[in-house]
Amino acid sequence: MKFKDRLVVVTGAGSGIGRACALEFAKQGALVAAADIVVETAQATVEQIRSAGGSAFAVETDVSDPDSVQRLVARTLEHAPAVHALVNNAAILVGKTVEDTTPEEWSRQMAVNVGGVFLCSKFFLPHLRLTRGAIVNMASVNGYFVEPECAGYCATKAAIIGLTKAMAIDHGRDGIRVNCIAPGYIDAGLASAYFDAQRDPAAARAAAGGRHSLGRIGLPEEVARVAVFLASDEASFMTGSVVAVDGGFGSGLPPGK
Ligand code: NAD
Repeated sequence: MKFKDRLVVVTGAGSGIGRACALEFAKQGALVAAADIVVETAQATVEQIRSAGGSAFAVETDVSDPDSVQRLVARTLEHAPAVHALVNNAAILVGKTVEDTTPEEWSRQMAVNVGGVFLCSKFFLPHLRLTRGAIVNMASVNGYFVEPECAGYCATKAAIIGLTKAMAIDHGRDGIRVNCIAPGYIDAGLASAYFDAQRDPAAARAAAGGRHSLGRIGLPEEVARVAVFLASDEASFMTGSVVAVDGGFGSGLPPGK
């Protein structure tokens, strides 16, 4: 068990990739702090972990709010004296062009997706320094492989890649490793919502799968396993990396092949 006697914080742990990360870390022995703005969903993740024999607790958190994040830190330290890893996963997606995006939508998406990584990292870093811990940020292939009608989202994911590299440089001498994952299409929350909104969700999933070399979209567990690896001692010489978990996104066969 890679995380026995270790505490791992996962944001956006109530759904999709975040829930899969929380379950996978718990499977590896971690005590998981499951943070989400929708606390009922985080609590459901906790129940799932406990019924599998693991340990976890839920904390209602808005990662865009400094007070809320500081409460998350305090609540976490009530459960264990030390924090070993932080997975900055929470995000929202505004599926619009710049022209169609309202200033409010732009600000909120920036505040959650990039501001959340900033705030959680800022307030957990002093604790991660004590354990020489690790941060894993959830970016996206959209950080460098942009797509139509999600301009602000692509900008936030590119920003997370930059922030990951900057934090890796700033905190490497403290023994803190900071990496990010760039998933392709994963059958989870944000992408599922997009597929389900299409006229033919199955066809939309198949079409998205065709854009990956492996001919399918990914599963949340396939991302979670990499998050565990990056946060673990097995990745001891990795920092500032962008690890694609994308089934070869962008290099799929042309439609119909
Ligand atoms: P999801 O919508 O299933 O999960 C996101 C979670 O974040 C939700 O539980 C939501 O309640 C929570 N959240 C939203 N705003 C929050 C806030 N302010 N504070 C705290 N929690 C908040 O999404 P997902 O598809 O599992 O995506 C998870 C991460 O993976 C995101 O960073 C996303 O950008 C990234 N990603 C997803 C895909 C994909 O295909 N699903 C692809 C690439 C990257």
